[in-house]
Order: sequence, then C-alpha cells, then structure tokens
Amino acid sequence: MTNIETIGIIGAGQMGGGIAHVAALAGYKVRLYDISGDRIEKGIATISGNMARQVSGGKLAEDIRQEALARIGAAPNMADLAEADLVIEAATEDETVKRKIYAQICPVLNPEAILATNTSSISITRLASQTDRPERFIGIHFMNPVPVMKLVELVRGIATEDQTFEASKEFVRRLDKTATVSEDFPAFIVNRILLPMINEAIYTLYEGVGSVEAIDTAMRLGANHPMGPLQLADFIGLDTCLSIMQVLHDGLSDSKYRPCPLLVKYVEAGWLGRKTGRGFYDYRGEHPVPTR
Ligand code: NAD
Repeated sequence: MTNIETIGIIGAGQMGGGIAHVAALAGYKVRLYDISGDRIEKGIATISGNMARQVSGGKLAEDIRQEALARIGAAPNMADLAEADLVIEAATEDETVKRKIYAQICPVLNPEAILATNTSSISITRLASQTDRPERFIGIHFMNPVPVMKLVELVRGIATEDQTFEASKEFVRRLDKTATVSEDFPAFIVNRILLPMINEAIYTLYEGVGSVEAIDTAMRLGANHPMGPLQLADFIGLDTCLSIMQVLHDGLSDSKYRPCPLLVKYVEAGWLGRKTGRGFYDYRGEHPVPTR
C-alpha cells in the first residue's frame, strides 16, 4: 500500500485549509498551494487561529498546536508539491479549473503519488480521465467545517485501483474520521440529499412562503436541524451550492433539480454567503441580518 507521509493540498480556501488543519494534527507533513499567494498566507493564518480556538476550548494542547503548525508549509509553486505522496485538490468547484490544475500537477508528481479531489459533485471518473493516473485518482470528500465534521465520503472512479482506495481509507482512519463509500453518481450521497433540500428552501423564500428568518427557524425548531437551510447555504457558499445543483440537473436530467432563480441571482450579485460577507444573511455587522 502507498505509504503516505506528505500531503499536498491545492486550494487554500475553507476546505483546503480545513484539510491541512486535520492532516497536520494527525502528524502528516502538509504543503499548501493556491493560485493566489495571498490565499495561502490567509489560509495558514486561519488554520493557526482555528487551532488557537481549539486550545482555548481545552480541546488541544498549545505544544501540539505548535508542532502541527510547524508541519504546514506554503507551496508558492505547484512544483513545491513534488514530494507529496497524496495530493488533494480542493480548488473552486468548476470543472474547467480542476482540469487545468490536473494538467499542471500531473507532470510534477511522483508516478506513484495518489491524486484526490474534494469535489462535492463532479464525476470522479470524468475528472480521472483528465489525468495521467486514473488508477491512482479518487474522490476524498470532506464535510465543512473539516475539523468538526466526522464524515468523509470516498468515491471511486471506474478505474480507481484497490490500492488507492485502501490507502485513502487508511488516511481517513488516521485523521480519526469515518469513511462511507459512495458510488460515482452526481453529488454522491450527502449532497444528493442535502442540496435539493437547500434549493427547496430557496424556492420557499422565492415564492414568498416565508422570510429567511421564518424558513430557518422552521427547520431548526420543526425538523431539529442544527442550522437553518439558508444559514447552511451561506456557510457552504452559494456558488458551491449553485454548481452542485447544476451538476445534479445536468447529470440526472430531472427538472426537480432545477436551481432556484433566486440562488442564481445571489451568485450573480457576488453575494456568496459568509465568505464574501453577504448571502441570505449580511455578516458585515456584529450579528447576521437577513437580506430579505
Ligand atoms: P473556496 O472558494 O473557499 O476555496 C477555493 C480556493 O481555490 C480559493 O482559495 C481559490 O483561490 C483556489 N483556486 C481557484 N483556482 C485555483 C487554481 N487554478 N489553482 C489553485 N487554487 C485555485 O471553496 P471551498 O468551499 O474551499 O471549496 C473547494 C472545493 O471543496 C470545491 O470542489 C467544493 O465543491 C468542495 N467542497 C466544499 C464544501 C463546502 O461546504 N464549501 C464541502 C465539501 C467539499
């Protein structure tokens, strides 16, 4: 089985940063790359802050935090990922972006290295076919926020070898997370079920059935969800929500997956949720305020 010691991460956004966080705590050496150098620095600062919160909450010792942070290094160029045994691509949910990344990273990697994607919805088999290593390509789909959420979905493409699958399962086990296996169909298991629910919540808002506050309160108190669906959409990122609905709509050709026009409008406005300061709520003040 591939011996994994160094993890390369492509994309230093909320997911890439979260994966770097848990991998470093599990003892892996981590190299973090992003197309924007700024994002790498911000990503590492966020990891440091999030670990500090774990320390003040009594969940982590300060010396362990320092050791983990020392294991995370910036990779200003893709070539800096050459030593990685496992590279996890966690860049923007856009197939064209991911394809370009694979074209650049494959020539850099050790032939034995495993290439994984954290995609929420795109076909693993199709992404694998864009690489020089479909046998060593797999979906390792983390949930957000990575340090908190226990689940990781493992998704094999048609060509994924057993060795790749077993090494990925072992990696997830070492992160102290639980792996479930999903077949390679649009949006896998969690998002196949979750995103249509969120999209329906946006339709409920769009059709005036309820306000943002009414819908979120209804689902928190009426269905016992820890977060309302619109709050959750803002947390995931509305661009990511829209891409997942588009993948479901295109991939399954069923009108029940039609993205709500209001979701499209928010994305067009650049109101992508928490990460841009505004979505179904406005996060720029002290407390989130519904935007409709
Ligand atoms: P994000 O917008 O926070 O981060 C994406 C990062 O990718 C950005 O820092 C961006 O600069 C970088 N990027 C864009 N093009 C790049 C390139 N060519 N090379 C290197 N980096 C590039 O997004 P996110 O929420 O972290 O999502 C990343 C991936 O994880 C997506 O595939 C998404 O579907 C998946 N995912 C997201 C969630 C979620 O809840 N947000 C959950 C599970 C999986």
